[in-house]
Amino acid sequence: MRRRLPRVRERGGIFLIVVMQPEAGERETRGVCEYLEKAGLAVHLSRGVERTIIGAIGDRAKLGGLALEALPGVEKVVAILAPYKLVSRTFRPEDTVVPVEHLTVGGRTVQVMAGPCAVEDRTQLLEAAHLVREAGARILRGGAFKPRSSPYSFQGLEAKGLEYLAEARAATGLLIVTEVMDAKTLPLVAEYADILQIGARNMQNFYLLRDVARVDKPVLLKRGPSATVEEWLLSAEYIVSGGNPRVILCERGIRTFESYTRNTLDLTAVPVIKHLSHLPVIVDPSHGIGKWRYVPAMARAALAAGADGLLIEVHPRPAAALCDGPQSLTPENFHALMDDLRGLARFLGRDL
Ligand code: PEP
Ligand code: MN
Repeated sequence: MRRRLPRVRERGGIFLIVVMQPEAGERETRGVCEYLEKAGLAVHLSRGVERTIIGAIGDRAKLGGLALEALPGVEKVVAILAPYKLVSRTFRPEDTVVPVEHLTVGGRTVQVMAGPCAVEDRTQLLEAAHLVREAGARILRGGAFKPRSSPYSFQGLEAKGLEYLAEARAATGLLIVTEVMDAKTLPLVAEYADILQIGARNMQNFYLLRDVARVDKPVLLKRGPSATVEEWLLSAEYIVSGGNPRVILCERGIRTFESYTRNTLDLTAVPVIKHLSHLPVIVDPSHGIGKWRYVPAMARAALAAGADGLLIEVHPRPAAALCDGPQSLTPENFHALMDDLRGLARFLGRDL
């Protein structure tokens, strides 16, 4: 029973959560929902393993006279004060595990999404797909639509690139994560992608966020290069409140005064997100650092910090890459990293 929530536009908008008693049943839960709806509030249900939480969003004035705590089955009522609501840990205390076809992101298993920055040609992509699968990854990355800083750089193969991704998927069984850049190409990208990637530059493209909220595909939401954690979570809130709960966050480095590395990988974001939100968070050390030499160390550090997965650029021949060669691992280095990560995951009590 999920309903799309209205945006809290009006002054005094508030989000309340009603925590149900562990022994409360369907009848009590329904009673509270009906009571809130009758008062003109939008209701959002979160059924946890231990207890049900009901979110109520609307005008503060409408909540004034409500005697929620007196209703049967209600344990307590708390106002969520953080600007993000549905993605907050207060609303859903348990970790969210995002289903992606036969796989999951979040929970015990660490997912590695690996592949080239861009789909360049059929041979390159198929080679990359086979090598990342042999090394143990289950999700193939590769951009068909590329957000490039310069209009003179390689812009991606677009529709043809998606066809190669589909061929690689069929040949290897890997699932596909690929970037969607605008509403116009969203239906096409969504036909091919198992996970829709919103790139760092589009993290605050609010209309695009609303569009992917209406698609029944998980979304990998990369952190904007200058976005605070709160802004990033608010972008996630757009997607979840718009009707798509399958959001995976991805830390990919932020812009700081340091120029030796491409960005500054903010690994503090991992425990911070884990504290503030129930959504899974993965780390992209490739874009975070921009130099392949440091990628393995930061991939291991990300896992140790509690990341639910990694996004890693790998190219069959990085020196010949049309995009992001300097940060791409060679097949040998990627194999070695995956071996390391398997041992580390075991030590951390996780599977890889
Ligand atoms: C990418 O992952 O291909 C990419 C362009 O990354 P970002 O949006 O993080 O720069
Ligand atoms: Mn790249």
